[in-house]
Amino acid sequence: MIPGARLVMLGRQGAGKGTQCTRLSRHFVVPHISTGDMLRAAVKEGTEFGRKAQEYMSAGELLPDDIIIGIVEERLVKDDTRERGYILDGFPRTEEQAETLATITGEQPLDMVVDLDVPTDVVLGRLASRRVCVDCGANYSVQTPPKHNWTCDHCGGEVIQREDDTEEAIQRRLDLYEEETAPLVDWYRKRDLLMVVDGDGDADEVTARLVRAIESART
Ligand code: ADP
Ligand code: ZN
Repeated sequence: MIPGARLVMLGRQGAGKGTQCTRLSRHFVVPHISTGDMLRAAVKEGTEFGRKAQEYMSAGELLPDDIIIGIVEERLVKDDTRERGYILDGFPRTEEQAETLATITGEQPLDMVVDLDVPTDVVLGRLASRRVCVDCGANYSVQTPPKHNWTCDHCGGEVIQREDDTEEAIQRRLDLYEEETAPLVDWYRKRDLLMVVDGDGDADEVTARLVRAIESART
């Protein structure tokens, strides 16, 4: 029986959380819960909520805590996450979200929180050249495009630049990360849950580092 996992992934925009969490979710056979992907799906559906979310997102602002907490809470009560766990990507992002997550997960606490650490100057370069699939969220870049004419290798979807990957919105998101989310690194360190993993370098190498670190901390 492959062990499940209850993990949170922290890290700056462009640190590679999306790519690495997708891989880790296959490795540990647990769902990858990305608040950004959930919100982008709502935007694409064009619901009333999606339209509201889009306003915050394209400006690089955070959604109000109560709204995002409601969405995550609804996901975390489903059977798959209760039984096998999850990898949370993009949540928590504020201390209030972290406090609430600790309450929600009460009887099944987190195994650990990984800080995927990549310096700001490196993420700035990655974000400017980042391209994503509108359908499955797969990540590409100007340097590593899909094989055929900006069509996703995995699902055939259109590969584009994210609407919030403008210079202004990127700067705002990175500022908010320092203000609201970076303090969570210490918050989790104090609770003895934090592990820092170097996210700089080749993606496969980073995956191997993550798996090694998580597995060694679990045994
Ligand atoms: P990035 O990490 O590059 O900002 P994400 O895909 O994780 O991208 O999130 C995109 C946007 O979705 C954020 O800029 C924010 O507007 C919204 N969002 C995602 N997660 C949260 C959260 N936990 N709290 C508030 N807003 C969030
Ligand atoms: Zn795709």
